[in-house]
Amino acid sequence: PERSVPDAVRTTCPYCGVGCGVTASVDGTGLASVKGDASHPSNFGRLCSKGSALAETLSLDDRVLHPRIDGRTADWDEALDLVAAKFRSTIAEHGPDAVAFYVSGQLLTEDYYVANKLMKGFIGSGNIDTNSRLCMASSVAGHRRAFGADTVPGTYEDLELTDLAVLVGSNLAWCHPVLFQRLLAAKAARPDMKIVVVDPRRTATAEAADLFLPIAPNGDVALFNGLLSHLAREGKADAGFVSAHTSGLDDALAASAADIEITAAGTGLSTADIATFFQLFAATEKVVTVYSQGVNQSVSGTDKVNAMINCHLFTGRIGRPGMGPFSVTGQPNAMGGREVGGLANQLAAHMDFDEIARDRVARFWGTDRLASRPGLKAVDLFEAVGDGRVKAIWIMGTNPVVSMPAANRVRDALARCPFVVVSDVVSGADTAALAHVLLPAAAWGEKDGTVTNSERRISRQRPFLPLPGDARSDWWIMTQVAQRLGFKKAFAYEGPADIFREHAALSAFENDGTRDFDIGAFENVTNTDYEALEPFQWPAPKGGNPPTHDGRFFATGRFYTSDTRARFIPTPVQAKQDYSGLRLNTGRIRDQWHTMTRTGKTPRLASHIAEPFAELHPSDASQLGVTPAGLVQITSAHGAAVARALVTDRQQPGSVFVPMHWTTEYAPAARIDAAVSPAVDPVSGQPGLKLTDVAVTPF
Ligand code: SF4
Repeated sequence: PERSVPDAVRTTCPYCGVGCGVTASVDGTGLASVKGDASHPSNFGRLCSKGSALAETLSLDDRVLHPRIDGRTADWDEALDLVAAKFRSTIAEHGPDAVAFYVSGQLLTEDYYVANKLMKGFIGSGNIDTNSRLCMASSVAGHRRAFGADTVPGTYEDLELTDLAVLVGSNLAWCHPVLFQRLLAAKAARPDMKIVVVDPRRTATAEAADLFLPIAPNGDVALFNGLLSHLAREGKADAGFVSAHTSGLDDALAASAADIEITAAGTGLSTADIATFFQLFAATEKVVTVYSQGVNQSVSGTDKVNAMINCHLFTGRIGRPGMGPFSVTGQPNAMGGREVGGLANQLAAHMDFDEIARDRVARFWGTDRLASRPGLKAVDLFEAVGDGRVKAIWIMGTNPVVSMPAANRVRDALARCPFVVVSDVVSGADTAALAHVLLPAAAWGEKDGTVTNSERRISRQRPFLPLPGDARSDWWIMTQVAQRLGFKKAFAYEGPADIFREHAALSAFENDGTRDFDIGAFENVTNTDYEALEPFQWPAPKGGNPPTHDGRFFATGRFYTSDTRARFIPTPVQAKQDYSGLRLNTGRIRDQWHTMTRTGKTPRLASHIAEPFAELHPSDASQLGVTPAGLVQITSAHGAAVARALVTDRQQPGSVFVPMHWTTEYAPAARIDAAVSPAVDPVSGQPGLKLTDVAVTPF
């Protein structure tokens, strides 16, 4: 489709879940420039290093500009015909569960909506999962257990209004820098505000802490169980809130019973530090507990989330300014994907696969093929590709050969898979190399739609560059395949506004206020108003009366469970595992994004940290014969990677940290996820990407 592109637009950054607004301009020679959007209510003009460098990442080097079939250039009709034919024949021969989509928090909500509708609504399988499974699935599961829905209670402003910010498993300074800047600015204005950082590593975020708790890996449940016990001993319950709006406290208290010594044994922290933290939490009314991947990417991630939420429910510190548990998402549209049903275990618009919801969604979509049950979650999905249960997979906007745990197994599974379709922007990604059909997707700057950030704020991503070559929006590519599969009417969208209206209408369909996700106010938005859409927080129901207090859920004490009460969840501490080697932790660095397909294009960002590194404590380095700046190999039962030793006491003895970003393209042996364990949290299915038993040896 032809489209005209204006010279300057307000859009959003494509990187982290802060979701900053940016203004992009293109000069007469076609050169783009990007600056912060001062009118965007999530960043007020601020940008971090990655956002500031966006204009430097827009080159067409390595772009997929035309469809390719088995490496040769093809036209759209041939490629789309082939994808539809292979999916149709696989479904006819083996059933709908023999095909799958693996999608991404890089997709816009409109793309995500079409992918979910096609797979769950019309192909008739639940087999669509997203790389948000690696990011926020434990938060989703924790929210649903406690609140009855995947509801983030707070807003960024709570980090500025609070008197105590507890950052757990979150290197906010590097991973959500603009939110961290907002927190630091608030602390500078009100120096009495306290920041506590709970992390196994002394990160850049920890440098700003009033109290740093260098917790043992996976010690979080023990810490917050100990805190709940302490709050109970000290009589810090909000008894009125607990009795009127919650249930299950006795079981949670019984499961969490621990004194400070037991907490110290479970966390590796000193009793003095624990006592200081507990007293601070108990004595401060306005507390926000911010958490991210150090919590979620764990085999006990969901319990960690609920252990923290338990403490907020017990003290009634939720839904009020400056208070509440707050999950910050990794990706720009991790939350938008959750809204449409991009996770295999959610149907659509925060609805489950129960009979009532299935009937409702089937009537709304006008389908008799709706999936009857949840599909395979990411790790299980690639397992099924490997053992032949899934015979055709379409991967969109993500690079699982680098980012999935046990990544060599994923690579080998895709190499064996009879039919692999990849929609992507760059051809050099490890996953793209395994595609039978590679489809040229639109990139940031060309895409047109919406994203939802960590504070439930929906913002537009607008195009300011023309679509290069044959590149097309993901939603358009999918509708062409859907129509070739015979689903013409259900996928007859003319643009992203059509899809957004339908998404909004579904969120409001037969929603009497008992479902949290509701943007029904936009179900009839005009194309012109969609184009001009200002950032807004959901819920935004028809009639314009959101059941929130200044954007905060639960101020009324009404939750989304059947009896409207929040649930305390018992979170017993799991038995400690034995490790024969070091404990591998993985994560982000400040200036790179995911598998570097964008940020790797600018030398400026590489100047912060140019190479993959393995952060080791001096005592481990000495014991292992590792010299500072020498190469080391990190080996597990699943695979190996090579990085340069960074010897520092910021790291705990017994642990090693390696960043997740480097791909074969940038450093041939540095795919650290090859070594990462595929063990998952049994509730959320999220892999424990932050804890694998590894050997570290000089290379
Ligand atoms: Fe982009 Fe996140 Fe940086 Fe904002 S904080 S500019 S969203 S990477």
